[in-house]
Amino acid sequence: MIKVENIHKYFDQQHVLKGINLSVKKGEVVSILGPSGSGKSTLLRCINFLESPTSGIVEINGKKVNSESASKKDILDVRTLTGMVFQQYNLFKNLTVLQNVMIGLTSVKRINPVEAKKKSIEILEKVGLQNRLNHYPVQLSGGQQQRVGIARALALNPEVLLFDEPTSSLDPELVDEVLTVIKDVANEGNTMLIVTHELNFAREISDRIIFMEDGLILEEGSAEQIFSNPSVERTKKFLSKVL
Ligand code: ADP
Ligand code: MG
Repeated sequence: MIKVENIHKYFDQQHVLKGINLSVKKGEVVSILGPSGSGKSTLLRCINFLESPTSGIVEINGKKVNSESASKKDILDVRTLTGMVFQQYNLFKNLTVLQNVMIGLTSVKRINPVEAKKKSIEILEKVGLQNRLNHYPVQLSGGQQQRVGIARALALNPEVLLFDEPTSSLDPELVDEVLTVIKDVANEGNTMLIVTHELNFAREISDRIIFMEDGLILEEGSAEQIFSNPSVERTKKFLSKVL
């Protein structure tokens, strides 16, 4: 479903991704762990072309884009195949919960407002926000805002869901309600790539775990293998510090 071939990313002189290769199968849940600054967010943003990779190839559901010759249409196509959930939610503050979820359907997918509304309400029910349809983001807790963020991503039926530290901005007591929603989404067979520092969560839901450092994938394996028997010293050290 996702194939990333030899992605490099420079910000000016800084070499942030140093040749990343990665494949994710349909329905697979893959978590990316690693220290701050290792390039995890940049990798997710290169996969949906929120950042253009300096070189390399991104393929999503058979749509193959070479970053060095990507057209605007290529980039739009890749964007519509992916849904992203951000650490800071990135909701429209002047729109209600319902409007935040509907807007992608009406403006990007050109679905008529009646149908878009019906579908948005269904998805908001799924994330437990059926009683908050007409609230504005500022009237919601962080956990509720992030659930809107997840609903918005799901509404567009993307082939791939990308989560960038979806619980890192939340007060500790609000983390679980968001993780529970993400687990439900994973259990529905969605293809997901998740950057997270929630190690227990990653261990529980991931089919595979990737450990990144300094722009490279240092190690990857099953949750079991990475947590109980990491083969790379750096991974061991990271896990022992965080746990
Ligand atoms: P992580 O998500 O693993 O913490 P990031 O991908 O955010 O790491 O960042 C990796 C490196 O790239 C950091 O040194 C960061 O400062 C740099 N970086 C990220 N985004 C930008 C940007 N838009 N412009 C310049 N440097 C950036
Ligand atoms: Mg990051």
